[in-house]
Order: sequence, then C-alpha cells, then structure tokens
Amino acid sequence: MEDDARVLRNARGIPASVGSRVRGLSRHATRTYPGGAPRDAVAVDLLAPRPQNAVMRAAVVHEHGSFDQILLEERPTPEPGPGEVRVRVRAAALNHLDTWVRRGVPGHTFPLPLVLGCDGAGEVDALGAGVTNVKPGERVSIAPGFGCGTCEVCAAGQDQLCRKYGIFGETRDGTNAEYVCVPSRNVLPMPAGQTFEEAAAWPLTYLTAWHMLTRRLELRPGETILIHAAGSGVSAAAIPMAKLLGAHVIATAGSDEKCKKAVDLGAAAAVNYEKVDFAAEVRTLTKKRGVDCVVNHVGAKTFDGDMKLLVKGGRLVTCGATAGFEMKTDFRLVFFKGLSILGSTMGSLGELHEVSRLLHAGKLRPVIDSAFPLARVADAHRRIADRAVFGKVVLTIP
Ligand SMILES: [Zn+2]
Repeated sequence: MEDDARVLRNARGIPASVGSRVRGLSRHATRTYPGGAPRDAVAVDLLAPRPQNAVMRAAVVHEHGSFDQILLEERPTPEPGPGEVRVRVRAAALNHLDTWVRRGVPGHTFPLPLVLGCDGAGEVDALGAGVTNVKPGERVSIAPGFGCGTCEVCAAGQDQLCRKYGIFGETRDGTNAEYVCVPSRNVLPMPAGQTFEEAAAWPLTYLTAWHMLTRRLELRPGETILIHAAGSGVSAAAIPMAKLLGAHVIATAGSDEKCKKAVDLGAAAAVNYEKVDFAAEVRTLTKKRGVDCVVNHVGAKTFDGDMKLLVKGGRLVTCGATAGFEMKTDFRLVFFKGLSILGSTMGSLGELHEVSRLLHAGKLRPVIDSAFPLARVADAHRRIADRAVFGKVVLTIP
C-alpha cells in the first residue's frame, strides 16, 4: 500500500480497502472505497502541491458507522452565494451532534455526504453579492445555526424554532474543512487576544447553555441549580454561566478529577456520581431542601433523582439524553410540586451575540480539553467518546 498516495484515505490516513471503486483512479483501478464511491469524491494526491484555493481538504461522512467512516478528502472550494461569506477555517470544535451524524440516528435522514462540524472560527476570505457587514480578513467565530430569516418565529428573534432551522454539519456542509460558506449574519467578530481554538470552542455549547439558563429556566440570583455531567461541553459552559447569573451551583461528574475541575469552574460543590448516590448527597449538601433548577442532558439515568430533588415550583431543563431516551415519572410529583419540565435546543442568534459580549468582556472563557489537527479528526472523535474528556475537543486547520 505504498504508491497509493492518490487513494482517498480515511481520517486516520488509512487507505480505503473495502467496497466499490473510486472514480478516476486509473493507476489503481482495483482500489476500492468503503460503502460505495462517493458522489463528490475526487481522486487526489494528498502529498502533492495543490492549485491555490481550487480544492480544499475536508472531513466527510458518506455513510454512517464507526470512526473509520470519517474520510479526509479533497473537494472543490465552495463559492459564497448572495448574502454569504466564505471563511478560511482555522479551528473547529466537536460536539455530540458530530457523533450522531457519524453514527446515524434511527428514523432520521442526514443529507449525506456531509462535511462534519457545527462550530468553527477563522478569517473571512471572500464575500458574496450584497454583503456589507464584514470585510475580508476579519477574524470571526461562526454561529452554528440558521433559520429561514423571514418566517414568523425568525422575525420574532426565535430562529431556533424556525421550521427550516438548520445547523452546519447537520443540514448543510460544516466547518471541518479548510473553507466553509455561511450566511453573513452567521459570523461574529472575535475578541482581541482570543485564539482561533477558543473562538471555535464556544458557540454551540455556550448558546445551548445560555438559552437553557436564561430563557427556559429563567434562573434567578440566589437559586440553587444542579448541573449534571460537568465534563460535557454544555455543562462546562453552564457552570460558570450559572455562577455569573448569581446562582449557587452543584455539579455532578464521573470522577474526582472532573469534580475538582467543576469546582475550579465555579461550582460550590461537585458530587462524584460513581462513588455516591448523587440524589442523597445533594439532599445533604442542601440541608434537605433540594434544588430550584436542574440541567439534565444525561436523560433517564438521573431523571428520577432529579424530580425528587426539585423544590416546589422547581424547573428541569433538558437539551439531550446521552444516557437514555425514555423518562418515567410519577405525575403526582409533577402536579403536587408544580414542577416544570422544559425542553431546549440551541438558542437564537441574538442570544449568541449576548454570550459573545460576555466573552469580549472576559467574563466567560471557553474550556478546551484537547486539540487535534484536521488530519486526525477520527482521533478527535475517539476523544469525545472517551469518558475522561472535560470541555471541548478542537480541530486545528492551519
Ligand atoms: Zn424562519
């Protein structure tokens, strides 16, 4: 397998070896490609010099599956349409959504092949017709979501509720590439001194956390909030935010090391749910009172304990269910205690600007776990599947 630099390689650099042929591999007519030749794949020499800007490298999923389904390949560099800007991506960040796109979700169809990646940051590189809000060369973070911009909820500033709402890397090509085109309203200026890695690390999870805390829970100063899975990107964002909003934060995590990091981020206390019954421990920590709010994106695993811990009038918000989709509860708890169970996905573009202001003011700072070059995107995916991860896994795209 030596003269095969022309072979499309997967993200670990391993030549594809099973499946049907890739077009254009004249010297390697028997070379094959997992799961079938991709529509947009071109045979390229990954080691040879490339014509400037004609093609770009990108991490692409053609078929759902394991880590080896993430292929590093070359594609034509996209051109910005009217109202769009092209960003030369310098860093991208991984989210659980990338994992779902890679693995697939039963009953849901993704528009494959798809360039992965919701979060990214880089320099504005080219402007489409009519763009006046940014200039080439500006350093920007990319807002991960986009509504249609014209419907009733978009007009009301709730684009995350738009029927046509989309996310880069889920409904159209994403940020795990050297270039991406986005609507011009989807770029936000980076604070001075912020690195591209930091600028890529915050948008999706910080928006998600901010929307949950401020719009869904309406968290108030002095309230006690329980935030599960402190090491996740969303919780690592939510802990310092909740503290900034004046709340008393109790976190849970799966190791003593993560508990310590949660306290460093601003939690007043952190409970290792692998060692103790988290509900009993939180009850003790709150002198049997319980908590006003819960952030649960774990799902069923903690739900029962959460419902019992909530005080009368308490609120629980969820933006995911990484450890079990089905919740069971005693309705008597819900109505007797007047509880609210709230769902949340993303947040509005306006809210993203609110968070951006807090980053510019130095009141929040992205939490980065580790960084990998784009060529090792599959290793980055392995890292987010690793329970040791704390904060964001970032890709660098020099
Ligand atoms: Zn809309």
